[in-house]
Amino acid sequence: MIGILALQGDVREHELMLEGLGVSTRQVRKVDELDGLDGLVIPGGESTTIGRLATLYGLMEPLREAIAGGLPTYGTCAGLILLADRLAEGTQPLLGVLDVVVRRNAFGNQNDSFEADLPIHGMIDPFHAVFIRAPWIDSVGDSVEVLASWEGHPIMVRQGHILASAFHPELTKDQRVHHLFVTMTKEI
Ligand code: GLN
Repeated sequence: MIGILALQGDVREHELMLEGLGVSTRQVRKVDELDGLDGLVIPGGESTTIGRLATLYGLMEPLREAIAGGLPTYGTCAGLILLADRLAEGTQPLLGVLDVVVRRNAFGNQNDSFEADLPIHGMIDPFHAVFIRAPWIDSVGDSVEVLASWEGHPIMVRQGHILASAFHPELTKDQRVHHLFVTMTKEI
């Protein structure tokens, strides 16, 4: 069972993607809904809103503990921002479990939403990636593996049991990134 943090954002798209891979899912809005999960997805959306609601519902510390304690977790876009240790600019609630510095809305107004055929480490064919007001990663710690970069900036990373991408595989039909994550949930 994979949980999807369901406070705001593209929860349904992640559900459909995971169900398409034969995995059962549970929406997570309360602390006890974290119990017994094999993995967790933090969707794309608006990271300030998700962070504010998670704080309001008392979820920040339980989420931090669960993820830091080894719960396999995949964050897309706003989810990547929430997982990060630090922001390049500004302050907002962060889980601080992924050793990266992330820059919100990094691709700028002119180019804020775009699609690109992205080479991803370990995948033979490029991945058609959808970026929507995406962040990029300014710097990564030693334990973080960069799986993909765009314009010289890391936009997909893995740190042990944590996977994060600045783009949205859940908005495409390509299951490969979710498949990678499902594999990670079975490694523990
Ligand atoms: N720009 C959003 C944020 O900062 C992320 C956008 C997204 O998740 N598509 O939270």
